[in-house]
Amino acid sequence: MVMIGLQGTTRQITINAMIDSGATEDFIDNGFCSKYNIRTTQAKTIREVYLAGGRPRTIGPITHTAKVPMDIGTHTEFAIFQVAKLPNHEVILGMPWLKQHSPRIDWGKGKITVESERCTTWCLKESPTVSAIPEDEAREENLKVEFSVAQSKKDQQVKVKKLDPQAKILTRGSAQAAGPDLYANECKTIQARGQEVVQTGISITPPRGTYSRIAPRSGMAVTHQLAVNAGVMDSDYTGEIKAVLDNMGNQDYQGKNGDGIEQLMTEKIVESDCYEVRTLKKTNRGQQGFGSTGTSKAQICEISARAFGKFYRRPDTTTGILKYSKKEGRISLESVNISTELAIKSGKYQKQRKLEELVP
Ligand SMILES: [Zn+2]
Repeated sequence: MVMIGLQGTTRQITINAMIDSGATEDFIDNGFCSKYNIRTTQAKTIREVYLAGGRPRTIGPITHTAKVPMDIGTHTEFAIFQVAKLPNHEVILGMPWLKQHSPRIDWGKGKITVESERCTTWCLKESPTVSAIPEDEAREENLKVEFSVAQSKKDQQVKVKKLDPQAKILTRGSAQAAGPDLYANECKTIQARGQEVVQTGISITPPRGTYSRIAPRSGMAVTHQLAVNAGVMDSDYTGEIKAVLDNMGNQDYQGKNGDGIEQLMTEKIVESDCYEVRTLKKTNRGQQGFGSTGTSKAQICEISARAFGKFYRRPDTTTGILKYSKKEGRISLESVNISTELAIKSGKYQKQRKLEELVP
């Protein structure tokens, strides 16, 4: 067998492939394709496949093909595989591949050399020889790859424990749902404008480097005006998840056991420490607080500087523009920051000027 690299849509996969002159096609396992996001396309015609000896095998029929970038050592190509149900292998390089690239195989030394004219012209970067791997060793390595991928997927999962056998476990509304739904494990009425803590009967451990947050479900927010409060859960909290729900509506919410009340978000965090400094890095925004963002662009839009917006410099060096508010029917002086001032100035002269010329 030989080690190959395949480029899935999300990641590069290294796997050992079988070189088999008895295979009439180059094959890739369909389960392997879906597991590693290797894109497959529907074949124009459905075909039965035959291995050496002409016996139809259970690996077919072939309905899909996969065209995937493949490396063998420094030999790179776009390989086309027939997608089949392979019982013992992930990838089989059969006769088509062997014919196309005419590798020289030294079975004794376990060396595969691709040095055909086609390969030296099209496929190769450097040395054309790669080492073959004994089948047992190769299959064990492949299992290890699969195990480590499965393990890393498992490490990213949320562990859920039922505290009450009747509790409903989290479920995803759809495959791409941002978070799985969280269910109430009690009947509780939340009065209009009231707040209640609702039990879920489960506890969780989120993956390392993440924390969990209870977030509203849009359906509950729209239909029942239910909002969630205090949703952040520390990752080392292993007690029961309880949702603090506010009924913002004017009608009581008759909560039932098993209601999908909220959703559970798993979010990445940086576990950062704090330390004291004398100064903080300057920013454009500076100390402007609530409601200060999202207004500066509008200022520039409304200037129409030629008409009535003109610069104004007060003794305390606060700069502003005169602005007419159509809604309120009045003219006011609004302060602008230095970058807005420069933007207006360069606009006024209809050309870009050096900063040194603009800064007073
Ligand atoms: Zn080649």
